[in-house]
Amino acid sequence: MVHAYYRPETLEEAQMLLEREKDARLLAGGSYLLSPQFRDIPMSAIAVSGLLPHSIERREESLLIGAGVRFQDLADSALIPEALKHAALGMANRNVRNRATVGGNIGADRSCSSLLPFFFAAEAVYHRAGLNPISAELWREKPSGIITAVELALPEGRAFAYGKYSRSACDLALIGCAVRADLGSGRLDNLRIALGGLSAHVKRFPGLEALLEGKAVPPRAELEAMAASCFSPIDDLRGSAAFKRRRAAVLVADLVGSLKEQCA
Ligand SMILES: Cc1cc2nc3c(=O)[nH]c(=O)nc-3n(C[C@H](O)[C@H](O)[C@H](O)COP(=O)(O)OP(=O)(O)OC[C@H]3O[C@@H](n4cnc5c(N)ncnc54)[C@H](O)[C@@H]3O)c2cc1C
Repeated sequence: MVHAYYRPETLEEAQMLLEREKDARLLAGGSYLLSPQFRDIPMSAIAVSGLLPHSIERREESLLIGAGVRFQDLADSALIPEALKHAALGMANRNVRNRATVGGNIGADRSCSSLLPFFFAAEAVYHRAGLNPISAELWREKPSGIITAVELALPEGRAFAYGKYSRSACDLALIGCAVRADLGSGRLDNLRIALGGLSAHVKRFPGLEALLEGKAVPPRAELEAMAASCFSPIDDLRGSAAFKRRRAAVLVADLVGSLKEQCA
């Protein structure tokens, strides 16, 4: 329930309101904040979408994605990695993709988030208004400030893959996964693996990364068994722990295997 609505003219003013109002929430696309689950939660909404960058900028070895960029803009951009497009296109339908923003997806911080597995695997850095940049993982531990852009390092030879398992094509991800590796040597260097759906929030799996780091992609059955041994999902309405462990292991094996194909 929005009991106060602010439309600041600058990010500084928005930041000041965020600090001043106890129940402040940043209103970007509103596709999460204005959903029924917040109907009974009092909030002061601070409209920020007009203040955030809406551009996607390719620099030499990095990419800067404005926090105001919408999912459909990601899907339509020629600049972003295919895996990130794939993640953006996983969202329900074009109507929602036309509203939902990158910053809002980070702020919503849902386990089934479309973009967070990619940002975690890519070791994205978030730029913030008036604050130092912060890594995606650190921000998740202690969210603070207004995110203005997401920076992704894209050195030569870096490959990404994204996949999700959902009950139907337009449903939320039950398991979402992104992987990245540097493939210059033909092996999995700087491998990062992040999944949503196995716990309350998206997270990386450093134990599994370490098992595979610097190695050639193992045979599929071995890879699946390795992955399954690293997951301890919770039972919930979306599926049993055993089911989620199996689905997640299959997804990881698919995606790491697809990195091998990118390398070939
Ligand atoms: C039908 C439907 C389907 C959906 N499907 C998916 C899906 O497939 N995948 C998925 O991930 N989500 C899905 N969602 C949830 C939601 O659409 C997304 O999380 C979306 O990215 C939220 O973005 P927004 O701009 O609408 O955020 P808002 O609703 O405006 O804000 C969301 C949160 O982010 C915070 N926030 C907003 N901007 C910033 C910023 N710049 N810096 C810091 N914090 C900020 C806000 O304070 C708020 O807590 C769905 C929602 C609906 C209604």
